[in-house]
This record gives sequence, C-alpha cells and structure tokens, in this order.
Amino acid sequence: MKIIYCDNNSTTQVDKKVLNEMLPYFCEKFGNASSIDHVYGNELLPEIKKARESIAKVINCDFDEIIFTSGATESNNLAIMGTVEQLKEKGNHIVTSSIEHKSILNVCQELEKRGFQVTYVSPDKSGVLKSEDIKSAITDQTILISIMGANNEIGTIQPIKEIGIIAKEKGIVFHTDSAQAFGKISLDVNNIDLMSISSHKVYGPKGIGALFIRRGVKIKPIIFGGGQEGKIRPGTYNVPSIVGFGKASELVSLKNQELIKNLTMNLYDRLSEHVQLNGDLNNRIPGNLNLFVEDVDSKALINEVKTSLAISAGSACNSDEVTPSHVILALGYDDNRAYSSIRIGLGRFTTEEEINKVVNVLIPAIKKLRNL
Ligand SMILES: *Cc1c(COP(=O)(O)O)cnc(C)c1O
Repeated sequence: MKIIYCDNNSTTQVDKKVLNEMLPYFCEKFGNASSIDHVYGNELLPEIKKARESIAKVINCDFDEIIFTSGATESNNLAIMGTVEQLKEKGNHIVTSSIEHKSILNVCQELEKRGFQVTYVSPDKSGVLKSEDIKSAITDQTILISIMGANNEIGTIQPIKEIGIIAKEKGIVFHTDSAQAFGKISLDVNNIDLMSISSHKVYGPKGIGALFIRRGVKIKPIIFGGGQEGKIRPGTYNVPSIVGFGKASELVSLKNQELIKNLTMNLYDRLSEHVQLNGDLNNRIPGNLNLFVEDVDSKALINEVKTSLAISAGSACNSDEVTPSHVILALGYDDNRAYSSIRIGLGRFTTEEEINKVVNVLIPAIKKLRNL
C-alpha cells in the first residue's frame, strides 16, 4: 500500500515534466557551460538564461539578478555572510526573527561568536511578525535585516512587503528567505535586496537554488574559484538541475495553490474537533497545517500512522533531534505543546481521496493514543 505523502514543506516529488526537461542534459548536452570554445559548452548558455528568466518571472525581477546556488541553505549563508563582509565597516548589527530556518539562525549564531550583534524578533501567538517590531529593533549599527517570506513549520506568511519599505527608508539591506513562499504566494522583489529560493520545494530537483541580488546591491563571495555568476558564486554550472529549476518555476501556479488551499481547509475542518492549529488560520501558505494534538506525543503519533501516512514533527532539520521546535516555543508556548505538535504538508499531487484517508487514519490514532 502506498504511504500518503504529507510532508511537502520538507520536500516535494520532482514533477515528471521537470524530469523530462532535465534528461537530455546528462548524456547528450553534457558540456561545461563555461567551456564556450565549442558547441558542447556554447549550446548551454541560452538554456541557463532561459531558466533564469523563468525563475525571475515568478518574483518579478530581471534574469541577470538571479544567481544559482546549491539551495536555499547556501543562498542564506551567502546573503548574510556576503552582506556582512561587504558592510562590516558600516555597522555590526543584524535584525532577524526567532522563527527563521536553521540556515539563518545558525549563521547568525556564528556571527555572534565573531563579534556581531543580532536581534531576534519574536512573533505573536499567531506566528506572524509585526513590521513595527522589526522597525523598533533597528539601531544605527544595523546593516542587514533578514526575515523569511513564510515559515517552514507553521506556514505563516510574514509582512516582507512592509519590512522592505522600512529597510529601504533606513538604507538597510533587506534579505528574505523565501524558500517556502516561492511558488505558493504572490511574490515581488520590489523593496527587497536579496531573496533566497530553493528548487526542491516546488517540484524541482534537490541541490539547486538561487539568490536574487538586486542590481546595484553588493555582496562578497563566501567561496572562491572561477568566474561563474560574476565571481559571487563560482563553480561549474549544474546544468540539468538549473534546467529543472527553470521548468519547475514555469509550472508554479497560484491557481493550483487555490486547490491546495481548499484541500487543506477541508482537512482542517474535519480534524479541528481533535486538534488545535499552530499559526494563523488565514495568513498561511496553502498546504501547511501545524497541529497541536493535546495529550499525544507527536513522535508516538507519527509512529502510529507511519505505515499509511508520512507526516512530520516539524522541520526536517529538527526531526532527528529531541529538542522541541524553536518555532512553537517562539510563539510563547511551552515544551509540552512543542512535543505534541505535528506538521502536515499537502501539495500539487495530493488528492481528495488521500485527504479522506488522512482523516480516517489520524482520528482513530489520536483517540487510541489518548486512551492509553
Ligand atoms: C527548505 C528550506 C530551506 C533550505 O533549503 P535547501 O534548498 O534545502 O537548502 C531554507 N529555508 C526555508 C524556509 C526552507 O523551507
């Protein structure tokens, strides 16, 4: 029996249409795109440009403002380290939030060890940050603000438009980790300087991502090598993955997100009498539910349903740790709520039939564990 995949905030399956676009770039068009003295390299340049254009269209930027990386983790590292290295003479303070992905938080922690000051702004109980709180955290030393577009555990959408305006007014570089927002909600880089995105969250291959760098914004590289990507991110082009990421970007559709939203709300309605939602009900990305299952240990529940459902306790990065989710705690809840919360992530390939199955498996499992 097929195990129903309900962990689309962790990763997504590669869309067959994406895979088909990628295949010729392994054994036929296998050249090094920087070896442009012959056709093997030369023929790839238009393909790479086309992928940049497809990605750029989703966030309303120009194709040459997109550089390729190995994923959002690297994009986040590059955005933060690269900005700090560029601007360290100007100030030593960073504003971010307490609900960021580990690839932001752990970079910030490293910078604290190196003498930088970081303010971690917390959201309210609904999991949404207030732009005024970001504004209040700014000092005359602030050189960078980094706030995610949408949270990967509880799905809440953050006010990056307003924060971008504040940052621009103050002349501070604004970066957003939009790995979860990309392709799920309408995004526009207006007032944003740097944006991290990832292919495998939108039905593209793993190990490829991008950083939007607004024209005129300067950052230093964190790795050194050849001349690729304006020397900001050297390394031989991962052409199959770039082509796949481009195709995946072509396929993102807000209309499809409406369908996913309906499925998600339907599922929540049917579960709501047994659970409590973490994060705002309306201000969240389609597909995400993070549910507090009172008096039930989340690991026990995941284990109980694992032969029919793939759900998680939070982010993939946290799943093998025994520490409670930093996101649930940042909402002001106790360890107990963090240890009893599960994440469900529906996606493009989730069917109505599967939703019925999820309900029919989860509710009895919750009842069983509560009666133990
Ligand atoms: C998945 C994710 C990342 C990491 O992206 P990778 O491409 O897997 O490195 C970073 N931030 C958020 C919000 C994510 O959801």
